[in-house]
Amino acid sequence: MNKPLPELQPLPDAERRHVAVVGAGLVGLCSALWLQRMGYRVTIIDPAPPLGDASYRQACSYGNACTFAPHGVVPVAMPGVIWRVPGMLLNPLGPLAIVWRYLPQLAPWLRAFLASSTKAEVERIAGTLAVLLSHADAAWQPLVTQAGAERLKRHDGCLYLYKTEAQFRAGDAEYGLRERHGVAMDLLDQADIRGIEPNLAPLYHKGVLFRDAYMFSSPRQLAFALAQALVTGGGDIVRGEVSAIEPRNDGIGLRIAAKKILADHAVVAAGAHSRKLAASVGDRVLLDTERGYHVLFPQAGNLLSRPVCYPEHGFYMVPMADGLRAAGTVELGGLAAPLNPKRTAMIREGVKKLLPGAGEGSDEWLGFRPSMPDSLPVIGASRRWPRITYAFGHGHLGLTLSALTGYLVSQLVAGRIPAIDLTPLRPDRF
Ligand SMILES: Cc1cc2nc3c(=O)[nH]c(=O)nc-3n(C[C@H](O)[C@H](O)[C@H](O)COP(=O)(O)OP(=O)(O)OC[C@H]3O[C@@H](n4cnc5c(N)ncnc54)[C@H](O)[C@@H]3O)c2cc1C
Repeated sequence: MNKPLPELQPLPDAERRHVAVVGAGLVGLCSALWLQRMGYRVTIIDPAPPLGDASYRQACSYGNACTFAPHGVVPVAMPGVIWRVPGMLLNPLGPLAIVWRYLPQLAPWLRAFLASSTKAEVERIAGTLAVLLSHADAAWQPLVTQAGAERLKRHDGCLYLYKTEAQFRAGDAEYGLRERHGVAMDLLDQADIRGIEPNLAPLYHKGVLFRDAYMFSSPRQLAFALAQALVTGGGDIVRGEVSAIEPRNDGIGLRIAAKKILADHAVVAAGAHSRKLAASVGDRVLLDTERGYHVLFPQAGNLLSRPVCYPEHGFYMVPMADGLRAAGTVELGGLAAPLNPKRTAMIREGVKKLLPGAGEGSDEWLGFRPSMPDSLPVIGASRRWPRITYAFGHGHLGLTLSALTGYLVSQLVAGRIPAIDLTPLRPDRF
């Protein structure tokens, strides 16, 4: 599964221009680092970048389930998802739920989401994801080394668990896709599971271990390390919110309050907030958000050895540096609504049952996965402005695919033929 990437050829001196990257999530940071490796002068702009004592909580890259997931070839919209829509509307606390009052705004996205769930589309999407995932680790390696982030990596795979045979069988189509795309999996019985995760309540019938998965013990520390590496390499990080992108004949202007930055090229990597910025230069993208949550159990960091997920519950339990993080679930409800405490209460209840020694949960977080209806990211140029490149929409795989995205972005900005066919990821595909 782990395929190499061609070595990047740095630009000749004359072509070393200035690139501004909007957004210091993992996608923006990795894009900035790969652009810097290519030879560009890079400035990242973000209202709260991972520097100093910033909490970084506004970024989706802060609060995720920490998992590098090569098993992620399965799109969210699988065949038959249409029959789940009534349940998504009726059960606001389900693992995949739609917030009623957001339905009118969500309608175009939801239509495209359902259209992506045909068998043929799912095969096509899984094939595209498989190609991306096969190169994802090769793109992370150089950045992890450069940032000194090797110490954050734990290589113990990722475990999916099922309470009954019926639940396990319900995942047949997903496992079919994974098998066809060469995902490394071991089927585990109860004794195997007890052997590797003795602290779980014995609420499992079967499990699957994804051997090639790994995790970062703190996505926050990872982001800070990447930002530091960028600065050490001569990059700039500017604190501010880009309110408008202004294409000009000689470059791209980026308005930040009363200031303006002029760059030769801009990369928009503002996660779930990218739609507004793309619209400001006339590009309509069908980006929305799959809201996700986490609860931290500070006393429980040593109870598991790897990320563990019961797909039935829709969240991962991850042993990270500052405790056990239970992270996941999907709420289709836009960017404006506040955190729903009933959902975090449900996650707490779930953890209590699955991992009885976890103790009390403390920190609660809501974040915004930037999501396209077909579970594929956007990596490509603006239709009207070739000096603007888009990199967002990574949904459930932003940590996994951010480094590869950065590599591909640097090739696009330099006008090179990208190592991977990016046609399925075009910004205007909907
Ligand atoms: C609960 C949960 C669990 C997850 N688990 C995993 C996992 O285990 N593995 C995995 O691969 N992925 C996972 N993901 C997905 C992953 O976290 C996201 O796909 C990824 O973080 C998206 O990164 P990003 O850089 O695109 O966006 P973000 O991290 O959101 O960064 C965007 C940045 O843009 C900035 N910004 C916004 N607007 C502007 C503006 N106008 N001007 C300047 N800056 C701006 C923001 O401040 C922010 O810092 C999970 C997500 C959630 C919610």
